[in-house]
Amino acid sequence: MTITDSPTTSRQKDAQVSLNRIFAAGAAADYATHLRVHGAFDPRAVASGLLHELERSGLTGRGGAGFAAWRKLGATEDAANARAFSGSATVIANGAEGEPRSWKDAVLLKNAPHLVIDGLLAAGAALGRSRLYVYASEGSLDSVRAAVAERRDARAITLMAAPDTFISGEASAVVNSIENDDARPRDHVRRLSESGLRKRPTLVHNVETLAHIGLIARHGADWFREAGAVRDPGTRLVTVSGDVGREGVFEIAGGMRLSDILAAAGVDRDRVSAVLVGGYHGTWLRSTQLDVPFSASGLASAGAQPGAGVLIVIGRQRCGLASTAEIVEYLAAESARQCGPCMFGLPALAERMSALAAGQVQRHGVADVARLADSVTGRGACHHPDGTARLVQSALVAFDDDVKAHLSGRCTRAARA
Ligand code: SF4
Repeated sequence: MTITDSPTTSRQKDAQVSLNRIFAAGAAADYATHLRVHGAFDPRAVASGLLHELERSGLTGRGGAGFAAWRKLGATEDAANARAFSGSATVIANGAEGEPRSWKDAVLLKNAPHLVIDGLLAAGAALGRSRLYVYASEGSLDSVRAAVAERRDARAITLMAAPDTFISGEASAVVNSIENDDARPRDHVRRLSESGLRKRPTLVHNVETLAHIGLIARHGADWFREAGAVRDPGTRLVTVSGDVGREGVFEIAGGMRLSDILAAAGVDRDRVSAVLVGGYHGTWLRSTQLDVPFSASGLASAGAQPGAGVLIVIGRQRCGLASTAEIVEYLAAESARQCGPCMFGLPALAERMSALAAGQVQRHGVADVARLADSVTGRGACHHPDGTARLVQSALVAFDDDVKAHLSGRCTRAARA
């Protein structure tokens, strides 16, 4: 398969569960099975203690940015309680997952929608009177719709379809899409926790984060911390794809070594050229850099982040520069073209990266690519240019041998991605 394979076919892959918390009720569990496996749940009973329990649990967001879950809830609660504000807050379960090589949210919503609903209800109850939304691609909403119809406590949840674009899951784009049917990011002048949907305090949590909240609200922080590492407690979902034996979504213990995750996916390390960690806005790591824990602190030493838990493996037969060029071209086309770096910088970066991959640049052309990547960083209203630049910068390091080969007009790899 190529690095830009169709997400439609890929998203149909089922979860391959190595650690069974989130998918404990089995595939596409109905409400009765969900309750039998996870136990009964009353969001109002946990509302007052949820913030404290989340803080003790150490749960971080699973959508990409990795913020502490309790801080986002606390900030929204503070805004909702502020004297200037009188009205309901909003909680949005974000399952948009625009990243083409991420399937974890689709797999989660298909197989464990009730756990996401539990987390959404718990967060809503903690904020008092709240409006609740699930925002995901139309295909993923089918199972949520069926789950909502099965339970009386979920009737007030509104389902909103997300367009299948890369940036539709960015938090301010989520709010903009629900409010204005325009899934483009907004300027982050005010925090969403203070002024989000219709200027109400708004909490946007990734659906996996809410599934963990649904479990923590039931079983507590100590239970959550029984799995994972001290600095990365609990479990997390990762999507592994590319040149692997078994593509799919895995539930792993926090802090599991990257090399062990890949081994579980049937990857022969000797045949790996590099792994893109964190998805299209992520960082390429060489095969010699894979003995690090898959956690924010573990990956930081290698200059990477877990992001939304996406791992893309390319074998030694593939050209990493060609793979990167394809992704940059996709990212340039997926920008909202509202800001300078996306209108001008990313298309130029895509063009230079493609020329480099084709062996059509001189030494100064490599410096051009690096300079362009620098110049778009920190200049957009959202992080789309920054993420694209990070990908390119890491490619120049991870594939430095390929860069040298391409400068002399040849590619040492037998196949192009
Ligand atoms: S930086 Fe790009 S993707 Fe982000 S808001 Fe501006 S134009 Fe849109």
